[in-house]
Amino acid sequence: MNEGVWAAPGRVNLIGEHTDYNDGFVMPFALPHTVVATASRRDDGLLRLHSSDVGGGAVELRIGDLAPGRGPGHWTDYPAGVVWALRDAGHPVGGADFHFESTVPTGAGLSSSAALEVVTALALDDLYGLGLERWRTARLCQRAENVYVGAPTGIMDQTASACCTEGHALHLDTRDLSQRQIPLDLAAHGLELLVVDTQVKHAHSDGEYGKRRAGCEAGAAALGVPALRDVPYEDLDAALARLEDEEVRRLVRHIVTENHRVERVVAHLEAGEVRAVGPVLTEGHASLRDDFRISCPELDLVVDTGLAAGAVGARMTGGGFGGSAIVLTDVSASATIRKSVREAFAGEGFGEPRIFTAIPSAGARRLA
Ligand code: ADP
Ligand code: MG
Repeated sequence: MNEGVWAAPGRVNLIGEHTDYNDGFVMPFALPHTVVATASRRDDGLLRLHSSDVGGGAVELRIGDLAPGRGPGHWTDYPAGVVWALRDAGHPVGGADFHFESTVPTGAGLSSSAALEVVTALALDDLYGLGLERWRTARLCQRAENVYVGAPTGIMDQTASACCTEGHALHLDTRDLSQRQIPLDLAAHGLELLVVDTQVKHAHSDGEYGKRRAGCEAGAAALGVPALRDVPYEDLDAALARLEDEEVRRLVRHIVTENHRVERVVAHLEAGEVRAVGPVLTEGHASLRDDFRISCPELDLVVDTGLAAGAVGARMTGGGFGGSAIVLTDVSASATIRKSVREAFAGEGFGEPRIFTAIPSAGARRLA
């Protein structure tokens, strides 16, 4: 018996990169691409998971046996982790059948993992009448990914998937989880945001992510603040002068300037100066490339080629070392930019990138 159909989107982050584990600000919006779950309750304590996007048949797990570290280390850990996190928080969740089907590219920095978690949580919330608030759903999904899957991600991705609304970017304070929906109507300004999925993921990316996190924590400790969010932009030079380690100094400079860039983007959007966002994105890329050092040749090529072909601004987005970049462009220059990027990739001998227009779309919802 099918009890319902739910959808949760992937996201792209407009600005605010690697700030979410520094208690800072981020500004993602939801993509039209979603993970769709068809789900129903079971009364035998089994969780049955099937995805049309991965090989292999359905996987059956006993919900009473779910525990961190016991997962098989494949895709089913994401939905199973959500069931575990909900039950561990005391929510009365029983067995369920899930079938997933997705249009969110996986491993492209567009958060297919969060979409998979959030759609699972939303379906269970409805099926078992939990009445969870969206921000809490996001927290529990983050816990599933951190503790059950074992990936040390921040809160941005799950909150974006759970809380974004159509036509808006989500200005999120990752410390207190307060949110503001900021209208983002690019078309009304003759603009378009391209997502360029480089389709590469360099193998060392997970370890490098951990190193950046540790470096940021070391910076906060050296400055005597709970998190780098607590270093005001106005105090940046004084803070940098107090840091001895050059590596840490660079990380701190990225986080503090990046939080400031989020504020600048919000101010521009609220003033209706959408085009002015472009140079801020480009500055953000330089900071990620030179200070945070998480770009790669493919991402730099998208940004450099896009700008040379007339883009208003461009930057890598997501964790880095591959994944996707975003390019803000006049609609009139979009075709030229797409062509230039494809040609540049071919010229460098890189694999063909996937390019699409990102339209700020709805967050997680029930479809039927
Ligand atoms: P991203 O979140 O950037 O797409 P991650 O590595 O965090 O990349 O998550 C990707 C993983 O999420 C996939 O390798 C797979 O295990 C899981 N996943 C995402 N979407 C699906 C899907 N539709 N079906 C099964 N597993 C999925
Ligand atoms: Mg992910």
